Amino acid sequence: MDFALSEEQKELQKWAHEFAEKEIRPVAGAYDETEEFPWPVVAKAAETGLYGFDLYANTMLADPTGLNLPLIMEEICWGCAGIGLAIFGTGLPLSSLSAAGTQEQLLRWAPRMFGTQQEPKVAAFCVTEPNAGSDVSSLRTKAERVDGGWVLNGTKIFATNGGIADVHIVVATVDPTLGIRGQASFIVSREENQGIRQGKKEKKLGIRASHTAEVILEDCFVPDEQLVGGQEKLDSKLERARGGSHERGSVALRTFEITRPLVGCQAVGIARAALEFAVQYAKERQTFGTPIVQYQGIGFQLADMALETDAARLLVHRAAWMAANGQPFTKAEGSMCKLKAGETAVRVTEQAIQVLGGYGFIKDFPVEKWYRDAKIYTLFEGTSEIQRLVISRALAGA
Ligand SMILES: Cc1cc2nc3c(=O)[nH]c(=O)nc-3n(C[C@H](O)[C@H](O)[C@H](O)COP(=O)(O)OP(=O)(O)OC[C@H]3O[C@@H](n4cnc5c(N)ncnc54)[C@H](O)[C@@H]3O)c2cc1C
Repeated sequence: MDFALSEEQKELQKWAHEFAEKEIRPVAGAYDETEEFPWPVVAKAAETGLYGFDLYANTMLADPTGLNLPLIMEEICWGCAGIGLAIFGTGLPLSSLSAAGTQEQLLRWAPRMFGTQQEPKVAAFCVTEPNAGSDVSSLRTKAERVDGGWVLNGTKIFATNGGIADVHIVVATVDPTLGIRGQASFIVSREENQGIRQGKKEKKLGIRASHTAEVILEDCFVPDEQLVGGQEKLDSKLERARGGSHERGSVALRTFEITRPLVGCQAVGIARAALEFAVQYAKERQTFGTPIVQYQGIGFQLADMALETDAARLLVHRAAWMAANGQPFTKAEGSMCKLKAGETAVRVTEQAIQVLGGYGFIKDFPVEKWYRDAKIYTLFEGTSEIQRLVISRALAGA
């Protein structure tokens, strides 16, 4: 086992850090205030090579350690997780397409999700509905078979990049009697397909630079070739489900375990930002003629913050390595890392506010924003309760 980063990885880390420091930190507060989508920053990231299909292809396919992308994401989210999500939110629909799509679909749609360096685009993954969040099996968006394709009807909520994306991966039910095993994913393009539109744009507590919105599908026709994985695969899956097989669950679970380290590393980035800021502040701030870092009450808090941040990162890196090396997630190690990182980000940013005292609560300092940004990491991509459920089921062998 080797914990050292390679020279190439240190370079990647430095590259991302410099971008975060120069292009993200200075504008993070403004985007948090206005809740506008940070297109100019995404465009600069595309220009630099930090945004685009190539980044995923290069960092994921040719990286046996699995750490390259998490290292980059931690740095970018150290800059601002809202802008980080604007840059990396497209990774989620991409993962879904690469997990279940055909090679032709991947070749055609994956580059399109990101657009070009000159004209970057984003993509969205639409599963959640008003009555189906954690309980994905209850979703009601319907896909009906028609001549030459499918017609989709339903309302998706809370979709990251929903409606501003061109490519949307939409999960719908094709056979409601089969629950989650009767679902399929569809590629829906706002530019090519009629009947998809953005609904309400959400106003949020944190990650406010990231766009979150309702996506409405009204008699939205998509041709056969936009059924993710193709008809044959769907037919055989449905046939097996009708025969009582539960296998889709295990494939989906593995996909989640693989993508969760890529969410966890974002939360680690926020925690580290808060830790660094709090340490620096505690060295400079004096009360009763003494720098507060010298009080054990403050020093111990900082020690705990450092400990938890490192522990979260180690779990993230282990799960990322397991994903890259095809290891079985027997203890739901992907869920473990996401759970630990999300809860650590909330705890560490809250402690950072405490270390700053009243200044921590004031918007002139970035810590209150990091606290608001951190909270989403215990909610989306599976709430903390759902992660605990998955881990406990894995332990029980259920
Ligand atoms: C900013 C943001 C961005 C998002 N981006 C996307 C996106 O891009 N695409 C997408 O499809 N969705 C997205 N989501 C949706 C997100 O994944 C869901 O909100 C999340 O899965 C929780 O679902 P819910 O809100 O319906 O809560 P519910 O499922 O209603 O849960 C409510 C509470 O009950 C708990 N709970 C539920 N079931 C159980 C159980 N079995 N055991 C114990 N506790 C339980 C939950 O943990 C939670 O505390 C986003 C949400 C937000 C806020």
